[in-house]
Amino acid sequence: MPAPDLNLISPLNVGEAYQPSFRMADVIDGKARLTEDQFLELYNHASLTQLGQYAAAMTDRLCPEDYRTYVIDRNINYTNICTARCTFCAFKRNDPDAIDAYTLDDEAIYEKIRELTAIGGTQILMQGGMNPALPITYYEQLLTGIRHRFPQIHIHAFSPPEFVEFSRFFNRPVRDILQRFQACGLNTVPGGGGEIFSDRVRSRIGPGKCTGDQWLDVMSEAHKLGMHTSGTMLIGHIEDITDRIDHLQRLRQRQDWALASAPAHYTAFIHWTYQPDNTPLDKKRKWSPDNGKAFEFDNGRTVRLADANEYLRMLALSRLYLDNFRNLQSSWVTMGPKIGQLALFFGANDMGSVMMEENVVSSAGTTYCLSEEMICRIIRDSGWIPAQRNQYYEVLKRHEDPDAPDRRQRPAPPPRRIQHRITPDEAAAYKSAVLSISAKTTAVGRIVTKASDAT
Ligand code: SF4
Repeated sequence: MPAPDLNLISPLNVGEAYQPSFRMADVIDGKARLTEDQFLELYNHASLTQLGQYAAAMTDRLCPEDYRTYVIDRNINYTNICTARCTFCAFKRNDPDAIDAYTLDDEAIYEKIRELTAIGGTQILMQGGMNPALPITYYEQLLTGIRHRFPQIHIHAFSPPEFVEFSRFFNRPVRDILQRFQACGLNTVPGGGGEIFSDRVRSRIGPGKCTGDQWLDVMSEAHKLGMHTSGTMLIGHIEDITDRIDHLQRLRQRQDWALASAPAHYTAFIHWTYQPDNTPLDKKRKWSPDNGKAFEFDNGRTVRLADANEYLRMLALSRLYLDNFRNLQSSWVTMGPKIGQLALFFGANDMGSVMMEENVVSSAGTTYCLSEEMICRIIRDSGWIPAQRNQYYEVLKRHEDPDAPDRRQRPAPPPRRIQHRITPDEAAAYKSAVLSISAKTTAVGRIVTKASDAT
């Protein structure tokens, strides 16, 4: 491997094309796995467009279909009260008596699901803060109630950090809680709270939250019980590239084990970028390429935010490295629709969800919102057929006909309001009324003589 250079900014498509020191075609064809050293080499030397080409070729092999997918779901954050103090989080409330601290009751959650089913939604993503006041019966009754009322709705709920805290709150093993929740209707476990697994990063950005190994262990238990899960990564804070590679390495290892030994596995990988607004971490100094040296982890004193280039580079590299993850999602919620669309050419084969509701990222100042129509248009404009999927990535509807969400005839715009034209008689009556008022206001020096003056 060539000696790592100190690219201060990840290279764009400039200068001579870099040639990898290994056979990239073997990685793309599935004859060899990308190693961690090769990952670092590509990160340091390949241009953005080279990475995009490699990742697109790999995606074509793994996902050769003529469609790209999305799901319609609703994020339900059942409480924002949390024992953890993640420094990148603007959503949590540590004080349960804070004026904006909340916990939703069952009825409020049922109502949200009713609204979701009314627009053709198929699943909920339910996660909270970690609220020590809630007993295990809150969760069991809630899951049972949802399953009973909405048997068709897929329940994708409670991230690994929540399960680790449940274990502490309820004094039971994680496996026992997973089994009980599964019996009440839980289908799959979302990958929230993955962030970065390495202890040196995690202990600084996520005090009060489970370790990386605990996160992975919860997911492995879920896999043993037949529940699929998703893998995640949060980039663009205090971590450096070695932390990201370590994170992906651990995910790939666990997925190898799950695929070989368990009845379930990770169905997808999603990474997104830290959104700084309203978060404690935003007070840290920001790294800049003007500093004169490459960014390295410095015990959490400096934040390196990830821009679109960095996001796409990591997406492409994740596609190449995670050869045992079939699906990679575009993170348009944090990157916006344009980069979200470009992601389809950098390794993503799924646009994630048409979200009816999102509370966590929007608390940190990011408010991108896409309708089903817009997601379908983004996919179709990119050259694929848009298809609605479920949480198992099974296609529910291919949108090929004229009735597709992005092809439906829009209702005609409402007719223009015709302005009321004042008649001469109305004008005369109005003027005399104004003059009679003005006669009373001459004492303050203003004489109103024209109707327009009175407005
Ligand atoms: S990210 Fe999650 S676990 Fe961390 S403080 Fe926020 S709500 Fe709590």
